[in-house]
Amino acid sequence: MSYASQSDVQTPAENPVTGTTVIGSSDAALQTESNGVRNDWSQAEIRALFDLPFNDLLFRAQAVHRHHFDANRVQKSRLLSIKTGGCPEDCKYCPQSAHFETGVDAEKLMNVDAVMAQAREAKDGGASRFCMGAAWRSPKDRDMGAIIDMVQGVKALGMETCMTLGMLSGAQAARLAEAGLDYYNHNIDTSEEFYGEIITTRTYQDRLDTLEHVRQSGMNVCCGGIVGMGESRDHRAGMLMTLATMPKHPESVPINMLVQVEGTPLTGTDQLDILEFIRTIAVARILMPNSFVRLSAGREAMTDEAQALCFLAGANSIFCGEKLLTTGNPEVDQDDALFDRLGIEPYEVEEPYEAEAGE
Ligand code: SF4
Repeated sequence: MSYASQSDVQTPAENPVTGTTVIGSSDAALQTESNGVRNDWSQAEIRALFDLPFNDLLFRAQAVHRHHFDANRVQKSRLLSIKTGGCPEDCKYCPQSAHFETGVDAEKLMNVDAVMAQAREAKDGGASRFCMGAAWRSPKDRDMGAIIDMVQGVKALGMETCMTLGMLSGAQAARLAEAGLDYYNHNIDTSEEFYGEIITTRTYQDRLDTLEHVRQSGMNVCCGGIVGMGESRDHRAGMLMTLATMPKHPESVPINMLVQVEGTPLTGTDQLDILEFIRTIAVARILMPNSFVRLSAGREAMTDEAQALCFLAGANSIFCGEKLLTTGNPEVDQDDALFDRLGIEPYEVEEPYEAEAGE
Protein backbone atom coordinates (compact mmCIF):
# COMPACT_ATOMS: atom_id res chain seq x y z
CA MET A 1 0.00 0.00 0.00
CA SER A 2 1.54 3.32 -0.96
CA TYR A 3 0.56 6.78 0.09
CA ALA A 4 1.10 9.87 -1.98
CA SER A 5 2.88 12.61 -0.10
CA GLN A 6 1.37 16.06 -0.05
CA SER A 7 3.96 17.23 -2.53
CA ASP A 8 2.70 14.60 -4.97
CA VAL A 9 -0.69 16.25 -5.19
CA GLN A 10 0.17 19.92 -5.34
CA THR A 11 0.40 20.53 -9.04
CA PRO A 12 -1.65 19.32 -11.99
CA ALA A 13 1.46 18.17 -13.76
CA GLU A 14 2.38 15.76 -11.02
CA ASN A 15 -0.93 14.13 -10.29
CA PRO A 16 -3.81 13.27 -12.58
CA VAL A 17 -6.33 14.17 -9.92
CA THR A 18 -5.19 17.73 -9.62
CA GLY A 19 -6.39 18.96 -12.97
CA THR A 20 -9.73 19.73 -11.36
CA THR A 21 -9.26 18.77 -7.77
CA VAL A 22 -6.32 20.30 -6.02
CA ILE A 23 -6.23 19.65 -2.33
CA GLY A 24 -4.03 21.07 0.28
CA SER A 25 -4.05 24.01 -2.07
CA SER A 26 -6.41 26.95 -2.59
CA ASP A 27 -10.01 27.16 -1.41
CA ALA A 28 -11.01 27.99 -4.96
CA ALA A 29 -9.70 24.69 -6.24
CA LEU A 30 -11.49 22.82 -3.50
CA GLN A 31 -14.67 24.62 -4.43
CA THR A 32 -14.25 23.43 -8.01
CA GLU A 33 -14.12 19.86 -6.87
CA SER A 34 -17.06 20.32 -4.54
CA ASN A 35 -19.28 21.61 -7.34
CA GLY A 36 -18.35 19.20 -10.06
CA VAL A 37 -20.14 16.03 -10.98
CA ARG A 38 -17.98 14.13 -13.44
CA ASN A 39 -18.53 10.93 -15.37
CA ASP A 40 -15.09 10.71 -16.96
CA TRP A 41 -12.92 9.57 -14.05
CA SER A 42 -9.88 7.55 -15.02
CA GLN A 43 -8.45 4.63 -13.11
CA ALA A 44 -5.27 6.65 -12.48
CA GLU A 45 -7.20 9.54 -10.98
CA ILE A 46 -9.16 7.25 -8.73
CA ARG A 47 -6.07 5.37 -7.66
CA ALA A 48 -4.41 8.70 -6.84
CA LEU A 49 -7.32 9.54 -4.56
CA PHE A 50 -6.96 6.20 -2.79
CA ASP A 51 -3.25 6.89 -2.35
CA LEU A 52 -3.67 10.26 -0.65
CA PRO A 53 -2.69 10.59 2.98
CA PHE A 54 -5.71 9.56 5.03
CA ASN A 55 -6.34 13.02 6.49
CA ASP A 56 -6.20 14.69 3.09
CA LEU A 57 -8.58 12.15 1.62
CA LEU A 58 -11.09 12.55 4.44
CA PHE A 59 -10.86 16.32 4.28
CA ARG A 60 -11.64 16.31 0.59
CA ALA A 61 -14.47 13.84 0.97
CA GLN A 62 -15.99 15.84 3.81
CA ALA A 63 -15.74 19.07 1.78
CA VAL A 64 -17.56 17.46 -1.14
CA HIS A 65 -20.10 15.91 1.19
CA ARG A 66 -20.93 19.23 2.88
CA HIS A 67 -21.41 20.89 -0.44
CA HIS A 68 -24.01 18.40 -1.58
CA PHE A 69 -25.69 17.15 1.57
CA ASP A 70 -26.42 18.05 5.15
CA ALA A 71 -23.35 16.53 6.80
CA ASN A 72 -25.29 15.66 9.95
CA ARG A 73 -28.10 13.67 8.41
CA VAL A 74 -28.09 10.00 7.52
CA GLN A 75 -30.80 8.11 5.68
CA LYS A 76 -32.02 4.87 7.25
CA SER A 77 -33.13 1.94 5.13
CA ARG A 78 -34.54 -1.33 6.36
CA LEU A 79 -33.80 -4.51 4.45
CA LEU A 80 -36.05 -7.56 4.45
CA SER A 81 -35.34 -10.88 2.79
CA ILE A 82 -38.65 -11.70 1.10
CA LYS A 83 -37.32 -14.92 -0.41
CA THR A 84 -34.36 -16.51 1.32
CA GLY A 85 -31.84 -19.12 0.22
CA GLY A 86 -31.61 -21.68 -2.56
CA CYS A 87 -30.21 -19.22 -5.09
CA PRO A 88 -28.78 -20.83 -8.25
CA GLU A 89 -26.01 -18.22 -8.54
CA ASP A 90 -22.54 -18.91 -7.14
CA CYS A 91 -21.51 -15.54 -5.62
CA LYS A 92 -18.64 -16.69 -3.39
CA TYR A 93 -19.49 -14.30 -0.57
CA CYS A 94 -23.14 -15.29 -0.29
CA PRO A 95 -24.65 -17.65 2.28
CA GLN A 96 -27.83 -17.87 0.19
CA SER A 97 -26.20 -19.58 -2.76
CA ALA A 98 -27.36 -23.17 -3.25
CA HIS A 99 -23.76 -24.01 -4.22
CA PHE A 100 -22.47 -23.75 -0.64
CA GLU A 101 -23.30 -25.45 2.66
CA THR A 102 -24.02 -22.55 4.96
CA GLY A 103 -27.05 -23.73 6.91
CA VAL A 104 -29.35 -21.21 5.18
CA ASP A 105 -32.44 -23.13 4.05
CA ALA A 106 -34.34 -22.31 0.88
CA GLU A 107 -37.66 -20.65 1.61
CA LYS A 108 -40.61 -19.60 -0.52
CA LEU A 109 -41.54 -16.02 -1.37
CA MET A 110 -43.14 -14.39 1.68
CA ASN A 111 -46.79 -13.49 1.41
CA VAL A 112 -47.76 -9.86 0.96
CA ASP A 113 -49.39 -9.45 4.40
CA ALA A 114 -46.28 -10.65 6.18
CA VAL A 115 -44.13 -8.21 4.20
CA MET A 116 -46.50 -5.36 5.00
CA ALA A 117 -46.31 -6.11 8.71
CA GLN A 118 -42.53 -5.85 8.54
CA ALA A 119 -42.72 -2.62 6.55
CA ARG A 120 -44.99 -1.01 9.16
CA GLU A 121 -42.57 -2.02 11.89
CA ALA A 122 -39.66 -0.56 9.87
CA LYS A 123 -41.50 2.72 9.44
CA ASP A 124 -42.26 2.89 13.16
CA GLY A 125 -38.56 2.32 13.77
CA GLY A 126 -37.65 5.41 11.70
CA ALA A 127 -36.73 3.81 8.38
CA SER A 128 -37.56 5.97 5.37
CA ARG A 129 -36.86 3.31 2.77
CA PHE A 130 -37.92 -0.33 2.76
CA CYS A 131 -35.71 -2.62 0.71
CA MET A 132 -36.93 -6.09 -0.24
CA GLY A 133 -34.47 -8.72 -1.42
CA ALA A 134 -35.11 -12.07 -3.07
CA ALA A 135 -32.44 -14.73 -3.66
CA TRP A 136 -33.21 -15.28 -7.31
CA ARG A 137 -31.21 -15.32 -10.51
CA SER A 138 -34.09 -13.28 -11.89
CA PRO A 139 -37.78 -12.99 -10.98
CA LYS A 140 -40.26 -15.40 -12.56
CA ASP A 141 -43.32 -13.96 -14.23
CA ARG A 142 -45.56 -15.94 -11.85
CA ASP A 143 -44.09 -14.00 -8.89
CA MET A 144 -44.50 -10.54 -10.38
CA GLY A 145 -48.09 -10.08 -9.16
CA ALA A 146 -47.12 -10.50 -5.51
CA ILE A 147 -44.01 -8.38 -6.00
CA ILE A 148 -46.09 -5.54 -7.39
CA ASP A 149 -48.58 -5.79 -4.52
CA MET A 150 -45.66 -5.43 -2.11
CA VAL A 151 -44.34 -2.34 -3.90
CA GLN A 152 -47.73 -0.66 -3.93
CA GLY A 153 -48.48 -1.59 -0.32
CA VAL A 154 -45.20 -0.26 1.03
CA LYS A 155 -45.49 2.93 -1.00
CA ALA A 156 -48.95 3.49 0.45
CA LEU A 157 -47.26 3.67 3.88
CA GLY A 158 -45.32 6.69 2.65
CA MET A 159 -42.00 4.89 2.46
CA GLU A 160 -39.57 4.75 -0.41
CA THR A 161 -39.40 1.30 -1.94
CA CYS A 162 -36.39 -0.64 -3.16
CA MET A 163 -36.11 -4.17 -4.47
CA THR A 164 -33.29 -6.50 -5.37
CA LEU A 165 -34.52 -9.54 -7.27
CA GLY A 166 -31.58 -10.43 -9.50
CA MET A 167 -31.36 -9.79 -13.21
CA LEU A 168 -34.26 -7.99 -14.87
CA SER A 169 -35.41 -7.88 -18.46
CA GLY A 170 -36.40 -4.53 -19.91
CA ALA A 171 -40.07 -5.54 -19.67
CA GLN A 172 -39.76 -6.52 -15.99
CA ALA A 173 -38.02 -3.25 -15.16
CA ALA A 174 -40.76 -1.31 -16.92
CA ARG A 175 -43.42 -3.21 -14.98
CA LEU A 176 -41.77 -2.48 -11.64
CA ALA A 177 -41.36 1.18 -12.54
CA GLU A 178 -45.01 1.38 -13.50
CA ALA A 179 -45.94 -0.11 -10.12
CA GLY A 180 -44.07 2.77 -8.50
CA LEU A 181 -40.87 1.06 -7.35
CA ASP A 182 -38.48 3.88 -6.44
CA TYR A 183 -35.12 2.07 -6.45
CA TYR A 184 -33.79 -1.14 -7.89
CA ASN A 185 -30.64 -2.57 -6.34
CA HIS A 186 -28.24 -4.56 -8.44
CA ASN A 187 -24.62 -4.46 -7.35
CA ILE A 188 -21.64 -4.81 -9.63
CA ASP A 189 -19.90 -6.34 -6.58
CA THR A 190 -16.31 -5.62 -7.64
CA SER A 191 -14.17 -4.54 -10.58
CA GLU A 192 -14.57 -6.14 -13.97
CA GLU A 193 -11.04 -7.59 -13.66
CA PHE A 194 -11.71 -9.30 -10.32
CA TYR A 195 -15.30 -10.30 -11.02
CA GLY A 196 -14.47 -13.75 -12.40
CA GLU A 197 -12.84 -14.67 -9.07
CA ILE A 198 -16.14 -14.12 -7.29
CA ILE A 199 -18.99 -15.16 -9.62
CA THR A 200 -19.08 -17.50 -12.60
CA THR A 201 -22.80 -18.00 -13.21
CA ARG A 202 -23.41 -14.59 -14.73
CA THR A 203 -21.15 -12.06 -16.33
CA TYR A 204 -20.22 -8.49 -15.53
CA GLN A 205 -22.00 -7.50 -18.72
CA ASP A 206 -25.18 -9.24 -17.49
CA ARG A 207 -25.04 -6.93 -14.48
CA LEU A 208 -24.52 -3.86 -16.59
CA ASP A 209 -27.40 -4.87 -18.86
CA THR A 210 -29.79 -5.10 -15.91
CA LEU A 211 -28.59 -1.73 -14.65
CA GLU A 212 -29.25 -0.26 -18.06
CA HIS A 213 -32.79 -1.67 -18.07
CA VAL A 214 -33.38 -0.15 -14.64
CA ARG A 215 -32.04 3.22 -15.75
CA GLN A 216 -34.12 3.18 -18.91
CA SER A 217 -37.26 2.35 -16.94
CA GLY A 218 -36.90 5.59 -14.98
CA MET A 219 -36.33 3.95 -11.59
CA ASN A 220 -33.50 5.13 -9.40
CA VAL A 221 -30.43 2.93 -9.48
CA CYS A 222 -28.93 1.48 -6.30
CA CYS A 223 -25.59 -0.07 -7.15
CA GLY A 224 -22.39 -0.65 -5.26
CA GLY A 225 -20.14 -3.46 -4.23
CA ILE A 226 -18.26 -5.39 -1.60
CA VAL A 227 -14.74 -4.92 -0.37
CA GLY A 228 -12.62 -7.27 1.68
CA MET A 229 -13.01 -10.17 -0.76
CA GLY A 230 -9.25 -10.44 -1.37
CA GLU A 231 -9.26 -7.81 -4.09
CA SER A 232 -6.47 -5.26 -4.51
CA ARG A 233 -6.66 -1.50 -4.14
CA ASP A 234 -6.65 -1.28 -7.93
CA HIS A 235 -9.69 -3.54 -8.02
CA ARG A 236 -11.45 -1.30 -5.52
CA ALA A 237 -10.57 1.69 -7.70
CA GLY A 238 -11.83 -0.20 -10.75
CA MET A 239 -15.14 -0.97 -9.10
CA LEU A 240 -15.67 2.69 -8.24
CA MET A 241 -14.61 3.70 -11.74
CA THR A 242 -17.37 1.54 -13.24
CA LEU A 243 -19.91 3.29 -11.03
CA ALA A 244 -18.52 6.81 -11.44
CA THR A 245 -18.31 6.62 -15.22
CA MET A 246 -21.91 5.57 -15.73
CA PRO A 247 -23.72 8.25 -17.78
CA LYS A 248 -25.72 8.98 -14.63
CA HIS A 249 -24.32 7.98 -11.27
CA PRO A 250 -26.36 5.51 -9.22
CA GLU A 251 -28.53 7.51 -6.83
CA SER A 252 -27.60 5.10 -4.08
CA VAL A 253 -24.18 3.45 -3.69
CA PRO A 254 -23.93 0.72 -1.04
CA ILE A 255 -20.41 -0.09 0.04
CA ASN A 256 -20.27 -3.39 1.88
CA MET A 257 -17.51 -4.89 3.98
CA LEU A 258 -17.46 -8.64 3.43
CA VAL A 259 -19.13 -10.55 6.24
CA GLN A 260 -17.44 -13.91 6.20
CA VAL A 261 -20.01 -16.66 6.62
CA GLU A 262 -18.89 -20.19 7.42
CA GLY A 263 -19.34 -22.44 4.39
CA THR A 264 -18.84 -19.75 1.77
CA PRO A 265 -15.61 -19.94 -0.25
CA LEU A 266 -14.48 -16.52 0.98
CA THR A 267 -14.35 -17.63 4.61
CA GLY A 268 -10.79 -17.22 5.80
CA THR A 269 -10.00 -14.32 3.45
CA ASP A 270 -7.57 -11.86 5.02
CA GLN A 271 -9.49 -9.18 6.84
CA LEU A 272 -9.36 -5.82 5.09
CA ASP A 273 -7.94 -2.95 7.14
CA ILE A 274 -10.90 -0.86 8.29
CA LEU A 275 -9.04 2.30 7.25
CA GLU A 276 -9.00 0.97 3.70
CA PHE A 277 -12.74 0.47 3.90
CA ILE A 278 -13.11 4.09 5.06
CA ARG A 279 -10.90 5.19 2.18
CA THR A 280 -13.25 3.39 -0.20
CA ILE A 281 -16.22 5.31 1.24
CA ALA A 282 -14.32 8.61 0.95
CA VAL A 283 -13.34 7.99 -2.66
CA ALA A 284 -16.92 7.01 -3.53
CA ARG A 285 -18.13 10.26 -1.97
CA ILE A 286 -15.69 12.37 -4.02
CA LEU A 287 -16.46 10.55 -7.27
CA MET A 288 -20.24 10.56 -6.87
CA PRO A 289 -21.05 13.71 -4.91
CA ASN A 290 -24.83 13.60 -5.37
CA SER A 291 -25.29 9.94 -4.50
CA PHE A 292 -26.30 8.53 -1.16
CA VAL A 293 -23.30 6.42 -0.14
CA ARG A 294 -24.51 3.62 2.08
CA LEU A 295 -22.48 2.07 4.83
CA SER A 296 -23.97 -1.38 4.34
CA ALA A 297 -22.99 -4.89 5.41
CA GLY A 298 -20.24 -5.34 7.94
CA ARG A 299 -21.28 -2.63 10.41
CA GLU A 300 -21.88 -5.14 13.18
CA ALA A 301 -18.15 -5.82 13.39
CA MET A 302 -17.18 -2.14 13.25
CA THR A 303 -16.52 0.00 16.28
CA ASP A 304 -18.53 3.18 16.84
CA GLU A 305 -15.35 5.11 16.06
CA ALA A 306 -14.93 3.38 12.70
CA GLN A 307 -18.55 4.11 11.80
CA ALA A 308 -18.07 7.75 12.84
CA LEU A 309 -15.14 7.95 10.44
CA CYS A 310 -17.31 6.44 7.70
CA PHE A 311 -19.84 9.26 8.23
CA LEU A 312 -17.00 11.78 8.20
CA ALA A 313 -15.84 10.22 4.92
CA GLY A 314 -19.26 10.90 3.42
CA ALA A 315 -21.41 7.88 4.12
CA ASN A 316 -24.96 9.14 4.57
CA SER A 317 -27.12 6.06 4.58
CA ILE A 318 -27.25 2.89 6.64
CA PHE A 319 -29.31 -0.23 6.92
CA CYS A 320 -31.06 -0.32 10.27
CA GLY A 321 -32.54 -3.35 12.03
CA GLU A 322 -30.79 -6.24 13.69
CA LYS A 323 -30.67 -8.38 10.56
CA LEU A 324 -29.71 -7.71 6.96
CA LEU A 325 -30.66 -10.48 4.54
CA THR A 326 -29.22 -13.35 6.53
CA THR A 327 -26.35 -11.75 8.45
CA GLY A 328 -26.30 -9.65 11.62
CA ASN A 329 -26.51 -5.87 11.93
CA PRO A 330 -26.32 -3.55 14.96
CA GLU A 331 -29.41 -3.28 17.18
CA VAL A 332 -31.67 -0.30 16.51
CA ASP A 333 -31.01 1.10 20.01
CA GLN A 334 -27.29 0.91 19.40
CA ASP A 335 -27.66 2.93 16.18
CA ASP A 336 -29.90 5.48 17.88
CA ALA A 337 -27.33 5.91 20.64
CA LEU A 338 -24.54 6.37 18.10
CA PHE A 339 -26.57 8.95 16.16
CA ASP A 340 -27.20 10.80 19.44
CA ARG A 341 -23.54 10.81 20.36
CA LEU A 342 -22.60 12.11 16.90
CA GLY A 343 -25.47 14.61 16.63
CA ILE A 344 -26.75 12.87 13.51
CA GLU A 345 -30.42 13.05 12.56
CA PRO A 346 -32.11 10.57 10.24
CA TYR A 347 -33.78 11.84 7.08
CA GLU A 348 -37.52 12.02 7.54
CA VAL A 349 -39.72 9.33 6.06
CA GLU A 350 -41.38 11.30 3.28
CA GLU A 351 -38.42 13.49 2.48
CA PRO A 352 -37.58 13.34 -1.23
CA TYR A 353 -34.09 12.86 -2.56
CA GLU A 354 -32.71 16.31 -3.06
CA ALA A 355 -29.15 17.27 -3.84
CA GLU A 356 -28.06 20.86 -3.65
CA ALA A 357 -25.91 21.03 -6.72
CA GLY A 358 -24.70 19.09 -9.70
CA GLU A 359 -26.87 16.79 -11.82
S1 SF4 B 1 -25.73 -12.53 -3.91
FE1 SF4 B 1 -27.80 -12.68 -4.71
S2 SF4 B 1 -27.54 -13.64 -6.70
FE2 SF4 B 1 -25.63 -14.03 -5.59
S3 SF4 B 1 -25.97 -16.04 -4.61
FE3 SF4 B 1 -26.60 -14.48 -3.14
S4 SF4 B 1 -28.78 -14.24 -3.43
FE4 SF4 B 1 -27.98 -15.28 -5.24
